[in-house]
Amino acid sequence: MRSYIKCSVCGYIGEDGKVKQVCPACGAPLSSFEHYEYGINEKRLSNLSLHLHPILVHFPISIAILSFIFLVIAFLMKSGTNGEWILIVKIISIILPFTIIAAMTAGLFDAKSRLKDAVGRIQKRKIQLGTLFLVVSCLSAILINYEVFTPLGKVAILLLGFLGILLSALLGKKGASLLAVLIKD
Ligand SMILES: [Zn+2]
Repeated sequence: MRSYIKCSVCGYIGEDGKVKQVCPACGAPLSSFEHYEYGINEKRLSNLSLHLHPILVHFPISIAILSFIFLVIAFLMKSGTNGEWILIVKIISIILPFTIIAAMTAGLFDAKSRLKDAVGRIQKRKIQLGTLFLVVSCLSAILINYEVFTPLGKVAILLLGFLGILLSALLGKKGASLLAVLIKD
């Protein structure tokens, strides 16, 4: 059974004995710490301590942004000279949907560990936005890999890319609003 302490200045929670001298988050002295009870069982706590969803969401977000930048570069270059960029964009566009699926799966797992009602109103919205992000990324991957590079096709691909970034930002904002929620057993 681990025991925890909480910084009374900033609210940082650490393991007892692992906080040395000052709060690693705000720098307050060790004397400002007090004993803290999570009030939830060890199994849920250990699931939560993996932080799977908050870690995995970085992949689709950064890949979506990177893919958009690479697409702009590829489309700005003369066709015939941009072969390598197109190849990179093709590969990235196929990876993106899988990272979204991984992040969504981890999100459901985290919600189950964190919340009594794993699928509340905000979580439903996140699943809808995540599914839309997945659909958008699949459409984009199809257009890119079938080389639908007509002027209209390029506009569609860029719009889908931009929409993907927008959706991932919205998902991040919704997720942040859930961070403080932790229902006790
Ligand atoms: Zn602190």
